[in-house]
Amino acid sequence: MTQMADKRKFYIDGAWVDPAAARDLEVIDPTTEEPVAVISLGGQADTDRAVAAAKAAFPAWSQTPPADRLALAERILAVYRRRNDDIAAAMTAEMGAPTDMSREDQAGSGSFHIEAFIDAFRDFQFIRPLGDHAPTSMVAWEPIGVVGLITPWNWPMNQVTLKVIPAILAGNTVVLKPSEIAPLSSMVFAEVLDEAGVPAGVFNLVNGDGAGVGTQLSTHPDVDMISFTGSTRAGIAITKAAADTVKKVALELGGKGANLVFADADPKAVVRGARHVFYNSGQSCNAPTRMLVERPVYEQAIETARRVAEDTAVGSAHEPGRHIGPVVSRQQWDKIQGLIQTGIDEGARLVAGGPGLPEGVNRGYFVRPTVFADVTNDMTIARQEIFGPVLAIMPFDTEEEALRIANDTIYGLTNYVQTQDGPRRSRLARQLRSGMVEMNGVSRGRGSAFGGVKASGRAREGGVWGLEEFMDSKQISGWDTSAS
Ligand code: NAD
Repeated sequence: MTQMADKRKFYIDGAWVDPAAARDLEVIDPTTEEPVAVISLGGQADTDRAVAAAKAAFPAWSQTPPADRLALAERILAVYRRRNDDIAAAMTAEMGAPTDMSREDQAGSGSFHIEAFIDAFRDFQFIRPLGDHAPTSMVAWEPIGVVGLITPWNWPMNQVTLKVIPAILAGNTVVLKPSEIAPLSSMVFAEVLDEAGVPAGVFNLVNGDGAGVGTQLSTHPDVDMISFTGSTRAGIAITKAAADTVKKVALELGGKGANLVFADADPKAVVRGARHVFYNSGQSCNAPTRMLVERPVYEQAIETARRVAEDTAVGSAHEPGRHIGPVVSRQQWDKIQGLIQTGIDEGARLVAGGPGLPEGVNRGYFVRPTVFADVTNDMTIARQEIFGPVLAIMPFDTEEEALRIANDTIYGLTNYVQTQDGPRRSRLARQLRSGMVEMNGVSRGRGSAFGGVKASGRAREGGVWGLEEFMDSKQISGWDTSAS
């Protein structure tokens, strides 16, 4: 690798500033296992400084006309699009998304969300009448205050834009703490906001780890809300840490999605489901990692999934092409290897992939696309989120049994249904306990929200719901109706 980039500064109050005390952390490229940049891990003084800047900026920013905020979001979108490839390159280096996928999907998701929020915001009614029965009652939507945003490494820009853009559009001021494992794309994003002319203090970025800046934001008396995406473990810790200061906490957590494949499903559904599990090297919280297959097509589905796994090329994130890259870190690689071994030890049938590096690879955190069949829902690989390219297939005989297995999990993010039977689809869509249900490969429409139930958290990100998430509703009565 060439020279390590020096990314030690934080973006606070409209300027790049040094940390109060030096504490370096190297950012490792998961393809080469070599450091590509050095960042600083912030401490209490840095967190306090960023929160103070956000607090000072709040009164003026929260009172700006919505049209001014919309204009800022439009400028951000224009600069973001221009910097798309820089953002993509940062993600390739920090978390291993292959170049083409990083440009189109990882970086592309950011511009998609910014644009969608601009649409949702344009029609947003900040003050609405309660109803004809109460003519002087109004509901006003108001910003919450200073918001701490804590994000993970798997879809860095997707998650950052889903938080920063609606939070500031709503009139809040923010402190972003991106994942310390993948902070570089967020630092380019800070440059984008700076160039777009975000007023000083409205957006701040402090790097740090969960125990440090993450906890400092969660406990800070001047932070009014935490919006978090990451593991269920950290979500619980944040909720507890935030309790003493009565913050609003919005959580987007893990998943263990079920994909119900009935005998009448389009055969392409199995291909699509398996590909989705391997996509982004398995590091997507909405991946359909438990494939439940109706008995008559069970062996056929296993064979199809095996073929998809064996056809999924794994290679350097720095090469163009449609292959998958490494997983993000040594720690994540070790965790996935341990779970693959547990799958074997607990008696699941290994159909493709397995432990160790792919053939011909001797460095980088690469994982073999892996398929297990004959999995039972009590096995560790059916219960724990693996966050690697590992598919667990299990058979079912009836719709009731499939539904019971699908709902027998602590998680509830996305479930999937594959069948030509319309009434069955509609029944299952209502009975599956998850924030999202995707059927026959039709993706959610633009403007819908992303989010889960149960241990997947209960936040809603995207669309009108994603704006309201960052606002409090104020109930007003005795409103002067003569002016309107
Ligand atoms: P993580 O929870 O370890 O870290 C996420 C972020 O939280 C990082 O910025 C980290 O520094 C911070 N953090 C960790 N502990 C903290 C604490 N005690 N207090 C405050 N902040 C803390 O998760 P990860 O390993 O980076 O990401 C993978 C996890 O995220 C997976 O479980 C995945 O399913 C989940 N995820 C969920 C969604 C969703 O929208 N539901 C999206 C992406 C990832």
